[in-house]
Amino acid sequence: MAADKPIEYGTPDPAVVFKGVTVKIGGISILEDVTAVVPKGSCTAIIGPNGAGKTTLLLALLGELQYKGEIHTSCGVNKNCLRIGYVPQRLTFDRGIPITVTEFLVLGVQKKPLWLGVGAKLRKHAEDILLSVNADHLADRRLGALSGGEMQRVLLALALQQEPELLVLDEPAAGMDLQGGQIICELLDRLRKDRGFTQLMVSHDLATVTHHATHVICLNRRVAAEGPPHKALTTETLTAIFGIHMGLVASRSMPGGNTVCSAPCCQKNQND
Ligand code: ADP
Ligand code: MG
Repeated sequence: MAADKPIEYGTPDPAVVFKGVTVKIGGISILEDVTAVVPKGSCTAIIGPNGAGKTTLLLALLGELQYKGEIHTSCGVNKNCLRIGYVPQRLTFDRGIPITVTEFLVLGVQKKPLWLGVGAKLRKHAEDILLSVNADHLADRRLGALSGGEMQRVLLALALQQEPELLVLDEPAAGMDLQGGQIICELLDRLRKDRGFTQLMVSHDLATVTHHATHVICLNRRVAAEGPPHKALTTETLTAIFGIHMGLVASRSMPGGNTVCSAPCCQKNQND
């Protein structure tokens, strides 16, 4: 990684390093001195309660809001040239808009007006990218008629179209049922391996994080902990950031083990 300054973090080749990132909006402190790393090729999850500043941190990375501190990427420090694919939590648009999924996907790349139709080459390209997210059946559907889960897949296809080095997702499984969330995470695992991007996602769901993330950043305005799930998601950290005892959830969802929860109630359940 060719950054302007050397980075003294343990990860040998980080995709992103946040260093003392601070965001204030209207005099109110949203993020305070956030220092964390996103290892290259990882599936890094940012977890934290509502209002913790998770989306704000993503927007700082995307260069969409002003911050103090440093964000290191392969471009350098505070430089906005990394190829980032972004899947927002939701897209607000006029549901009556008469546009198909294929037209939506080629909107930014087709040179001739859309009302002349989508060219064969771009239609094939859109079909291929939809196929990669198991959504080829949506090609001719009206955008406004998609369900929340279908829309997430189309937004994922749109983000992949840029061939991102870093794929950023804000609660990709929000609004989906448990099975839908699992399917999208498995799909992301496969895409990450096939395409070699780094994945940075916000998630509320501890089960998803423990099963799919390789690195976790626990955030509540500040970083409470970070590291591999089994090290970062301790009872103490979860209690500190969520304000309630979450250890039982974490221990039940940790693959192959129940090592994180040391609270008496968990010990009892583990012995049942
Ligand atoms: P999260 O994604 O963790 O739920 P956000 O990053 O969306 O949290 O927001 C963190 C805090 O910053 C919230 O209290 C939110 O109300 C506040 N906030 C976010 N954007 C703005 C804004 N544009 N103006 C004022 N406050 C904001
Ligand atoms: Mg958010």
